[in-house]
This record gives sequence, C-alpha cells and structure tokens, in this order.
Amino acid sequence: MIYLDHNATTPVDARVLEAMLPWLRTGWGNPSSVHTLGRRARAALEQAREQVAALVGAHPSQVIFTSGGTEANNMALKGVAARLPARAPLAASAVEHASVQQPLLALARSGHPVAEIGVSPQGQIERDALEEALRGGARLVSVMWANNETGIIHDIPRVAEHVREAGAFLHTDAVQACGKLALDFAASGAHLMSLSAHKLNGPKGVGALLWDKSVDMEPLLHGGGQEKGLRGGTENLASIIGFGVAAELAQSELAQRAQHALTLRRRLEQGLAQRVGEAVIFGAGAERLPNTVFLALPGIEGESLLLELDRQGLAVSSGAACGSGYSEPSHVLRAMGVDIELAHCAVRISLGAGNTAGDVDALIDALQAQAACMQRMASAW
Ligand code: PLP
Repeated sequence: MIYLDHNATTPVDARVLEAMLPWLRTGWGNPSSVHTLGRRARAALEQAREQVAALVGAHPSQVIFTSGGTEANNMALKGVAARLPARAPLAASAVEHASVQQPLLALARSGHPVAEIGVSPQGQIERDALEEALRGGARLVSVMWANNETGIIHDIPRVAEHVREAGAFLHTDAVQACGKLALDFAASGAHLMSLSAHKLNGPKGVGALLWDKSVDMEPLLHGGGQEKGLRGGTENLASIIGFGVAAELAQSELAQRAQHALTLRRRLEQGLAQRVGEAVIFGAGAERLPNTVFLALPGIEGESLLLELDRQGLAVSSGAACGSGYSEPSHVLRAMGVDIELAHCAVRISLGAGNTAGDVDALIDALQAQAACMQRMASAW
C-alpha cells in the first residue's frame, strides 16, 4: 500500500513509540501523585510540555494538553464563549474543519450569532468579510492556519492584526500546519492555537490548546484540577510523552521534511501537467502546505476514483477524513466557488516523510490511466 493520506493521519515514528513504551510498562505513575513514581511521571510530562511549546514558539505554561485537535477546538470556542456576554457575536472562516464548525453551530443554537467569513476563489480569507464580521461585533474569531483539504495557508499574523485592533480574540486551528510549517504562537498574534499529535507522527488521541493567559476561558472538563484547572482528568501520560518527542523531532527535521514534501509535490504537479492535462488542482495559485494537492479529474467522481486507486494499492482521500464517511461535496471547495459537479470529483493527496518519487510516479500513472479510460468511455458514447 502506498500511503498518500497524511493529512488524515500519519504513522507513529519509531522513535516516538520507543519513547512512549517505558511509560506504559514501568513508568505508569499518576503525574499528580506525590511519591517517586508520580514525581517521575510529572517530570516527564513537563518535559513534553516544553517540547511542544518549543515547536510553536510558546511558553510551556501556555500549553494545555487535550485529547486531540477536536477537543482543543471545542475548548477554545466553547470555553471562551462561556465567559463572553450572553449572545456575544462570534465569527469563523467558511472553510473550517468540522471540529470548529460544529461547536460554533452548538453555540449558535445557544444564542450566539455566528458570522461566516468568506474566502476568495483561491481560498484566501476575504478581508472585507473579516472586517464586516468585526464591525458586527464579533468577539471571538476562528481562522485555521492551513486548510486540511486544499492545504491553503492563511496569513494568520495579518488576520490577528485586524482582530486585535477590533478588541476581539483570535483562535487558530493549526492542526494541519503544525509540523509542516514553522509556527510562532507568540509572534502570530493569535490568542489560542489548536494542535494534534497524530498529524506529526505522534500518537492519536492527544493534542494541545495553546492559550494566551489574558483570555478568560471556562474549562470544558471540570475535574481534579489538572492542566491548571482548565482540563480535568488524569493526563494521558505515555501519549503526551509521545507528542513531546514527535514535536521535538518535527522541530529538528522541519526544513528537511518540508523540502522532501515540496519536491514530491512539484513532481506530482509537473507530472499531472504533462501527462494528465485535464486534471484540476484546487488553489493551485495559492500558498499551500508543501505536502498537499487537492485535485479533480473532471467527470470522474471522487469516491469512485478513491476506490479505484485503493484497489491499485494507493491510499488517498476524497477530502476530510470524517467519522460519517460522508459523500457531500467539500464545503471548502463550495466556499471557493467551485462548481458542485467538479467538487464531487475531488480527491486529496497528502504526502509524508515515507513517500518516494516512485510513489508519486505510480500515482501519476494511475491517474493518467483513469483519465484515458474516461476519455475512451466519453468517445464511445
Ligand atoms: N482540525 C483540522 C484542520 C484537522 O484536519 C483535524 C483532523 O483531521 C482536526 C482539527 C481534528 O483533530 P483530531 O483528529 O486530533 O481530533
């Protein structure tokens, strides 16, 4: 199987797994316990906090460990909204992940008006729409750092300038950007930033919310006072330690990983341009993650193409990996104004450290064969 779906999840790095195992086998103490086993666990937990903070230019005290990106997004939005006045307006881009859109829908049901910030055909935040939302009194704005489907990168420092000028808070979902781009929480101007370990070769079920302490936030989980009282529950020690090591590796290997992905992405895009002329790459002119290509072969439904590629041993995705296995056209493409028929044809290729030029060539061969097959069928009609 050639795995080309790294925006859905990544394999756990062998070094991460090695670092985790002792904390499951022998070092399984509760970090809140006062005895030696507990204190050792606490020290390891705090080291992981430092490693995660270092990856994104934050102070360790700003890191709140969560069960992943979904919880971090929920915590940021629901936690901050709970401390804003009732019915305070909120806003988010039209291309957010479901784990931002759904909590916002829940907040809308509880009385908070939620403005949608539109994007351009190249997937960029419309400045006028952002300003309109802020003029409308939005107190909390959520704009993702990089989109999980298209890979399109948003200029978060610029968005933060506008949001801060209006006296509002900015949350950014950096789940896809983290480990692929150099991020600096402090310099970004964002007040809150969500991360997830399994997108950067760490384990699933662990993530973090980075938090500017000037923001008043209600915990999502009330419990035993863990994570500065902001996230109750005994910490997922081994996974957090894995996250820390994954973060440290991502930091030291960032440039090399990004260059590897970009070389492969260029090979793919050039190969498609030369051999599969009908292929459409969404957001081709926009600044994108080095590893992501969201494309369509017009006339071939994305789900069918995905299944055919899978049959040939190539694992891709038709958009966001989602529990419901939905087949609705991508809301991201719809927000970019892509025609609904074409949006139905989308498949996402997301490259990773383990991919090779041979993997990319195998994909180009398969896409070329599918496009040719489609053409033969069309001319037989
Ligand atoms: N945000 C984005 C942009 C994502 O791509 C994902 C996962 O696909 C998430 C949030 C959710 O993260 P997790 O799987 O850790 O809950």
